[in-house]
Amino acid sequence: MSNRSYGLSEAEHDYLLKTTVREHPSLAQLRDHTMKMPMARMQIAPEQAQFMQLLINMLGATHCIEVGVFTGYSTLAVALALPADGRIIACDISEEYTAVARTYWEKAGVDYKVDLRLAPAQDTLDALIAAGEREFYDFAFIDADKENYVRYYEQCLTLVRPGGLIAIDNALWDGRVAKDSADEETRAIQAVNSRVGKDHRVECSLVPVGDGLLLARKL
Ligand code: CA
Repeated sequence: MSNRSYGLSEAEHDYLLKTTVREHPSLAQLRDHTMKMPMARMQIAPEQAQFMQLLINMLGATHCIEVGVFTGYSTLAVALALPADGRIIACDISEEYTAVARTYWEKAGVDYKVDLRLAPAQDTLDALIAAGEREFYDFAFIDADKENYVRYYEQCLTLVRPGGLIAIDNALWDGRVAKDSADEETRAIQAVNSRVGKDHRVECSLVPVGDGLLLARKL
């Protein structure tokens, strides 16, 4: 699903990768590792990771949040793009998947930039808000349980600074968002897409990279 950008043929994707994607060796190794795992489809596409690195650099981001780590590919991509004093708060509940993540963050020598919080993300985000970190963050990436997307979006909107960016993954959800669907995950993604689309607190763009990346920049 999201291992290759939306609508690209295999040949087009290969061309894109070969021509323009500069994947750090640790990212490539982690991608290989994850592709052998049963939940491999949860990993973002390498061109999406590179796009996010470009956004991080354009923002001059130093403080980031990630909601949903899985095996840590996007975390690693962000950590590699951050300056030495940059930090990413990485939220997940899985010991098992984040153990894989940690191995590769260490291999790449960027583990010191990652602050892993093993707890329900909504609790971690509430704790950051309670700790006085409103508008402290430059960038937030949301890629976790879809049912909580609207809540994560609202919490991240509180935490990012004006001009800061929220990126929401799986916005196209393999095309399911464009169909009448009764399933809860699809409806949750449709809900966040609609909310962001009409939200005057942000400017937005749904970019068809990976499985659809919805960008919301706080005004
Ligand atoms: Ca995803």
